Amino acid sequence: MAKTSRRVFLARIAAGGAAIGVLQTLGCGGGGGDSFTCNENVDQAAQGTRSALQYRDASTDPNKKCIDCVLYTGNATACGTCSAVPGPIHPNGTCTAFAPKPA
Ligand code: SF4
Repeated sequence: MAKTSRRVFLARIAAGGAAIGVLQTLGCGGGGGDSFTCNENVDQAAQGTRSALQYRDASTDPNKKCIDCVLYTGNATACGTCSAVPGPIHPNGTCTAFAPKPA
């Protein structure tokens, strides 16, 4: 009985760790240093523009993040808006219309 309980306990720990990994991959648990996503509630027309401008929630170029773009309105801790790309915009996102804020 004690051996079975220990196995069950260890299996539950392993399952919990796997679930955390999946959530982080999906952007729900702080994956990549972000604790939120900005792709929810985007209608089809908006999604078309977002795709055309290759918008994504996480920029691979640290010099081209929405938070540093002149078209971004918002702060670094929540989804903001953009005058070129409809829908919620991640401060760490990017797209092909990036225009740096004046120095
Ligand atoms: S134009 Fe592109 S890079 Fe600039 S804020 Fe909008 S989505 Fe981000």
